Amino acid sequence: MLYDSFDREHLWHPYTSTTNPLPVYKVSRAEGCEIILENGTRLVDGMSSWWCAIHGYNHPELNAAVETQLKKMSHVMFGGLTHDPAIELGKLLLGIAPPSMDKIFYADSGSVAVEVAMKMAVQYFHAAGKRGKSNFATIRSGYHGDTWNAMSVCDPVTGMHSLFGSALPVRYFSPAPLSRFDGVWDENDISPLKEIMKSHHDEIAALIMEPVVQGAGGMRFYHPEYLRQAAALCKEYDILLIFDEIATGFGRTGKLFAWEHAGVEPDIMCIGKALTGGYMTFSAVLASAKVADTISGAEPYSFMHGPTFMGNPLACAVASASTRLLLSSDWQVRVRAIETQLREELRPALRLPAVQDVRVLGAIGVVEMKKPVDMASVQKRFVEEGVWVRPFGRLVYVMPPYIITSEQLGKLTSALVKIAGEL
Ligand SMILES: *Cc1c(COP(=O)(O)O)cnc(C)c1O
Repeated sequence: MLYDSFDREHLWHPYTSTTNPLPVYKVSRAEGCEIILENGTRLVDGMSSWWCAIHGYNHPELNAAVETQLKKMSHVMFGGLTHDPAIELGKLLLGIAPPSMDKIFYADSGSVAVEVAMKMAVQYFHAAGKRGKSNFATIRSGYHGDTWNAMSVCDPVTGMHSLFGSALPVRYFSPAPLSRFDGVWDENDISPLKEIMKSHHDEIAALIMEPVVQGAGGMRFYHPEYLRQAAALCKEYDILLIFDEIATGFGRTGKLFAWEHAGVEPDIMCIGKALTGGYMTFSAVLASAKVADTISGAEPYSFMHGPTFMGNPLACAVASASTRLLLSSDWQVRVRAIETQLREELRPALRLPAVQDVRVLGAIGVVEMKKPVDMASVQKRFVEEGVWVRPFGRLVYVMPPYIITSEQLGKLTSALVKIAGEL
């Protein structure tokens, strides 16, 4: 077996038991688009390690960026000190962010970025003298992370509300838009949100959502018109708009950031995951000058958050290298080619009796099953087919590194269709 007995006895893996854990496969290295197990099995990576490794693994340019920075300093505190890696990354990010973004807050992970964004929204209205505005609105089927406030705006059904609900702040949930990304816009989609804002705007600080693609909450792709109308409602009712682009950022949906599909700019935006090309945990919260200036203009004249590892130089250095690598590559061509191949090769899955829906956007391919899959057995089948795909619930999906070759992608899609056919 590939399992390690110490690991099995003592290490907690995500969303699993310690007494009866789901199997884990031991990896000895990863390179390009392949994950290599200890027994030598090479798996084509379909997950980019949860949206992160867009350039693949063990990339010479990213390795060099880490090594160069390591020789200077791996970390110094960001309170009272600054450094080139943080400054250089900031310039790069503001150059590609929505034009409305003007300030950057570096944080440690996606969930922390969401916490920071939510705190900014509350502190903004505190500073603006509207202290009643401290709650949040969102749409169902979303995912924003596993920390307390991030969890409170995750989908209440697929999220963890059944477990932690009584201890979570209660948010305003509007149904997820039904109009599909490439379908016809149905005007009724926006009505419930309109109703919530109309009735509760004096309590709501911000609307938080993942633009266009809802990731871990359901892998849904919705119509960009929803964002345009939601943004107009936010303006009308003096509610800030927070875009969580932690999964969608850095080209995954075919645009550099998903807001571009709608042309709607947020007041606050969270990025993470692919920010460091999958090298280490890091995130950033971008904010408009209006948000930052308002917060800074009233007691205590400072934004009240400051993680220990804020602006970590190693993370900033590799994030800059990853962003430069992306921008200097033909990523649009690659993502479009992945999209075309996914569309063609996943389409046959639609005819399978156990399959509910097949959808593709950018470098994301989703096969939605009618029933939840048994993770352990399905995972094992994927490994037997030489690919790394990790389903959840009814969703079997891929979001490969952009460097994947068409042969490797073909291996992924044929394994996906084959295994969906066995279910
Ligand atoms: C993954 C994810 C998060 C949480 O990021 P972590 O780094 O896991 O804390 C938040 N929002 C979205 C949209 C995500 O996909």
